[in-house]
Parts: sequence; C-alpha cells; structure tokens
Amino acid sequence: MSASAPTAQLTATSAHSSGFSGPDQPHYEDYGKCIHCGLCLNHCPTYKLWGLEADSPRGRIRQIVLVEQGRLALGETFVRHIDQCLDCRACETACPSGVEYGKLVEAARAQIEQHYRRPFFSRLARDFAFRRLLPYPQRIALAARLLRIYQSSGLQALARATGALHLFGLADRERLLPAIDGEFFFSRLGRTYPPAGHRRARVALFAGCVAQVSFTALHEATIRVLTANGCEVVVPAGQVCCGALAAHAGVRDVTRSLARTNLEVFLREDFDAVVTNAAGCGSTLKEYELLFDANAPEHAQAARFRSKMRDVTEFLADLGLSAPLATLPLRVTYQDSCHLVHGQKVREAPRKLIRSIPGVELAEMAMADYCCGSAGSYNVTETSTSLAILAEKMKHARATGAPIIVTANPGCLLQMRAGTQIHSTGQEVVHVMELLDRAIGNPTSPR
Ligand code: SF4
Ligand code: SF4
Repeated sequence: MSASAPTAQLTATSAHSSGFSGPDQPHYEDYGKCIHCGLCLNHCPTYKLWGLEADSPRGRIRQIVLVEQGRLALGETFVRHIDQCLDCRACETACPSGVEYGKLVEAARAQIEQHYRRPFFSRLARDFAFRRLLPYPQRIALAARLLRIYQSSGLQALARATGALHLFGLADRERLLPAIDGEFFFSRLGRTYPPAGHRRARVALFAGCVAQVSFTALHEATIRVLTANGCEVVVPAGQVCCGALAAHAGVRDVTRSLARTNLEVFLREDFDAVVTNAAGCGSTLKEYELLFDANAPEHAQAARFRSKMRDVTEFLADLGLSAPLATLPLRVTYQDSCHLVHGQKVREAPRKLIRSIPGVELAEMAMADYCCGSAGSYNVTETSTSLAILAEKMKHARATGAPIIVTANPGCLLQMRAGTQIHSTGQEVVHVMELLDRAIGNPTSPR
C-alpha cells in the first residue's frame, strides 16, 4: 500500500469495526486527535530517510485507522510499515494536536502480534526472546554466561578476524552486543545502601534485566551518586524485567504479567521514589496503566506506582545535589534518549546535572533529541536502517568537538559506543550518572 495523505477527518461512528477490543486496541480518542497537518513528518527518522508517506507518523496513523475500520488488511505491507517505525516518539513532541503516537503504535503492534502470522524464523526468534528469555532472570544470567565465554575465550576475536560473522550476515549485529560483566548485579538484589550523612530520601532502584548482566558498573555508579547525595537506596528483591522490549514488539501479555510482579514488589513498601537509570525502562514503567482496563485493580496500582516512578536524572535534579563535586575540566556533549525526552518529556534535568559539575562545558549537539537508531531491539531487527540513522548521529556528535558523549539510557550507550568505533570518532560514551560519579571522587567510573 502507498498511504497517501488523508483528506477526511475520521468520525467516531466509523471506528471500532475491526472487532478488536480492550487495552491492546488503538482508540478513537487517540487517533481522532490527528488533524493530518504533517508537522511531525520532518521529525521522523524513517520519513527523512525514505521520504515515504507510508513511513511517516501521519501515514502510519492513517494505516492504523484503516486497519481498525476493516478497510485495510492487517497483512504484510501494514506490518512492514509498522515494524519499520522506531517507536522513538519524536512525532509526539512535534505534534501540536497532542497525538500520543507511542500508545497508537504499541496497540497496533499488539494487534499484529495477536492477528498476524509472521514467518517461521521470526516467530521462533520473537518467542524465544520475549516469552522464554527476558521474563526469567535465571535464563538471562545463563545466556549471559554463555555470551561471556564467547567474548572472553578468544572466540569473538577469532570470529571477527576470520570474517566468519560476515559469512552468516551477523557482523553488524554482533558489533552491537553488550559486553558481559564478570559479576552480575543480580547478586545485589535485596540489599540496602545507607546514605552518606543525613537521610534526605529513601528510594528503590529498578535494576532491569539485561542491564543486570552488562551494566553492573553503571548501577554501582548510580548507587554511589544517590547515597553521596543523602539517599538511602533499596534494591528490592523479586523485581523483574519492566517488559519494555516486549511492549514495543506488541507482546503485551508478557509485559502485563511482568508489570503485575513489579507493581507487587515496588508497592510493598513506601518509598519517596522508585528510580531507574534506563530511560527506555522508565518510559514503560510510567505507562503501566496503559496495559490494563481502567476498572482493573492493576490500573489503580499502576497509577500509584507512576506517581513514584522517576528517571534518576529527574529525581536528582529535583532533589538538588548536596555532595561536593570535584572540578572536571571537560567538554562534553549530550545525546537525548528518545524515551526520556519524547516518552517522559524530561529534557532539562540531565543537562542541569551535567552543567552543575564545575569545569564541565556542555556543547550541544545538533539534533540531540533525534534517535540514535538503538530503539530497543530495532538495531537488531532493522540493522541497516539503524546504522544509517547512527551514521547521521555520529556526524553531529563529532562536529561538537567534545571528547565525551553523555547520555541517559543503556541502549543509547551501546549504540553510541558502537557508533564511535564504526566511525572512528575517538569519543568516549558515558551515562550522566557515571559523569557525576567521577565528580564525586571516582575518576575512572564506569570501570
Ligand atoms: S515514532 Fe519515530 S519513527 Fe515512528 S513514526 Fe514517530 S517519529 Fe517516525
Ligand atoms: S503532527 Fe500530529 S496532528 Fe499533525 S499529522 Fe502528525 S500526528 Fe497528526
């Protein structure tokens, strides 16, 4: 299908003819807000790449509506255009009409998951990743141990040197793999870290899934920064993956099940805030309500949880830094994480924290709030598009002349680190918490 710019407003009576219902359905109240103005188009990475209406936010919304009305088949063409969306939500920020595009695309993906049969290998891979691996911490740990053997035994170096990965078309994807930690953060679940000095706040740390096997150092830096600033940090046992990757892929039954566990775990005690250093997780955690019917008990729990949920940069910027900060004579640039700036509307907090470090000069990057191409599992499923978007990003990052790129999400860290290697920019990529950790006295953070 070549979706052309729509010409007519949709009416409430024309909607809801597909027979889908419940929280996994696109709702008229959401797509009816689109006035087809097209102001979002030039903010959309896929539209900018290909110039196709069908791969723009307006075109995708139109297709979602047509499927909803039963006027377009929920078939291969529709699936392709929806799959090619990064779910970066830049279109939400650009939209003058308040269209919550993220809600729409995730509901459309849920319909695809429920009503469309993907090719065999795609089904196999999705079933393994979203249903059999990510929900289970022990399986994540086992898979990570196997990956670590591959990375540290010399096998990885051999596979790269011999070109074997190119033979199987895996070279680009392999480059994006996270380096696996020697010791996993899972062993810290259940611990409480006391504040330095007077307690200003008591917070729970959300630790994620893959982050627990590849971002242990980031979690430790986050805890050091929080405790140095007077926070008691509890890492509740029993917490599980937030379900963001599954939700972005339309596998919402899995996200719902994970959400029930996390709601139970994090609402057991009263915290001043639940914090995360992963913007992608935070965005989904703050939107757990969308997974449940308005009259379901979990909906009310999710609303309570949302009132506590904070990105760690947002929380610290509001609390105010109290720890003494060393001078770091550094020029840095900041890459917005889409799910922080567009999903959670947090733009200033990380910049405020970076600027609060004496000696640090923040050189703004052109199009800093434009996706880096990571987008959850997009860099694995749509690798060539992801790398094309990354190439643009690295041009802007290099042009700042900053030797350090700071960001606020593990997915962006991995993607930007791959970008610095692929494009030989020689830049270092760190999380805001790691930069702050250096300023409070750990100069080699995150190592
Ligand atoms: S979420 Fe991103 S890629 Fe998808 S339509 Fe919006 S701007 Fe384009
Ligand atoms: S900017 Fe908003 S209202 Fe305009 S076409 Fe895009 S989604 Fe629709």
